[in-house]
Amino acid sequence: MTRNSNYDVLIVGGGLAGLCAALHLSRAGVKVLVIERHSYPHHKVCGEYISNEVLPYLKSLDFDPLSHGAISIDNFLISNESGDEISTSLPLGGFGMSRYTLDHLLYSEASKYAEVVFNTVEVIQFNAEEFTVQCVNGDAYHASYVVGAYGKRSGLDKTLQRNFISKRSPWLAVKAHYQYPFPENTVALHNFKGGYCGLSKTETGAVNACYLASYSSFKPYGDLSRFQKEVLSENPHLNEFFNIAKPLFEKPLTISQISFQKKEAVKDQIFMMGDSAGLIHPLCGNGMAMAIHAAKIFSEMYLDARKKGDINRLELETEYATTWNAYFRSRLRIGGVIQKLMLQPVTARLGFKAGQMFPGLVRNLIKHTHGSPLQ
Ligand SMILES: Cc1cc2nc3c(=O)[nH]c(=O)nc-3n(C[C@H](O)[C@H](O)[C@H](O)COP(=O)(O)OP(=O)(O)OC[C@H]3O[C@@H](n4cnc5c(N)ncnc54)[C@H](O)[C@@H]3O)c2cc1C
Repeated sequence: MTRNSNYDVLIVGGGLAGLCAALHLSRAGVKVLVIERHSYPHHKVCGEYISNEVLPYLKSLDFDPLSHGAISIDNFLISNESGDEISTSLPLGGFGMSRYTLDHLLYSEASKYAEVVFNTVEVIQFNAEEFTVQCVNGDAYHASYVVGAYGKRSGLDKTLQRNFISKRSPWLAVKAHYQYPFPENTVALHNFKGGYCGLSKTETGAVNACYLASYSSFKPYGDLSRFQKEVLSENPHLNEFFNIAKPLFEKPLTISQISFQKKEAVKDQIFMMGDSAGLIHPLCGNGMAMAIHAAKIFSEMYLDARKKGDINRLELETEYATTWNAYFRSRLRIGGVIQKLMLQPVTARLGFKAGQMFPGLVRNLIKHTHGSPLQ
């Protein structure tokens, strides 16, 4: 069935990128529709540490996570497979908040101004300057502009024939909340053979444990509890954690096929933002800030173009893609290099020694994978 036909901007995906863009645009009078496949609140596989660079922007949207219980984090602890650690202050700091709460709060805000429907988008077509967006249940919506904010991987990537989707990825990720005595102001990154595990507190007081692991390291063990006991727990920090921590989820959430391949910022006239445009290696702890930043970039450009009169689609596409690349491409590259070095025993050992001798080096690397506060 065809639904309302006059949306200015239709956003596919109501995660951080989609909801921030919806809030920004709709508060400025743009007619926005968000289509999200899951109802809120829901848990997501994510480290749940968010860089403070997004705080000024979120506050400009009248949304302050700290007033909703987010926990301030200003210390970073990293350990190698044997448990040797480096602790350093975070140049900009960040906050801890579960995606369960953060996405739900943003949805509550965004839905005051924008329309949000729960459905799964299956096909996006562009014809005669108009998009038709079709959902699995047959509903179709029309809009002048479409934003792809549907995350790292979706059936849509297949329909849009994006290059990365045909390549298999060797990564899986696991996340759960635990009760565990852990310092509030710290985000920890503990390495193990074949991956790394982040620990940080959320607004509920629960500790979020989220790890990324290669299939090849996981495959011989076949189940998560054996893998955690026999591989992750070789790192003494994780050994203590998995021995003492009380799980608060019935079972951990898992995702697979996490691709760090290059993607396009604009594909078939669709403005991609957040993980749909490119996923940074999670050890950088900056994917959420990038998703929110991309929402700001697109929203400001769209509103500027609209203010000037007729929007020139091609100009907007070129300007958005150029700006997206200027802000994020080198962060993605540096994140990739760090992850590669960290997961190879020799370079990890050397890198770790250098970091222990010069903690400023660690802070410098953090700076290169993060941005400045978004004013
Ligand atoms: C293991 C791991 C740990 C991480 N840890 C951190 C961290 O600590 N800090 C950090 O900053 N970043 C971290 N990240 C990255 C961060 O999770 C992402 O960068 C961020 O969630 C991107 O937000 P988004 O809005 O692009 O996508 P999402 O938050 O994934 O939102 C996409 C939305 O689109 C919806 N959707 C998908 N397909 C469709 C469809 N066809 N129709 C309708 N809706 C659809 C989904 O349901 C979802 O709600 C981590 C990532 C991983 C994999």
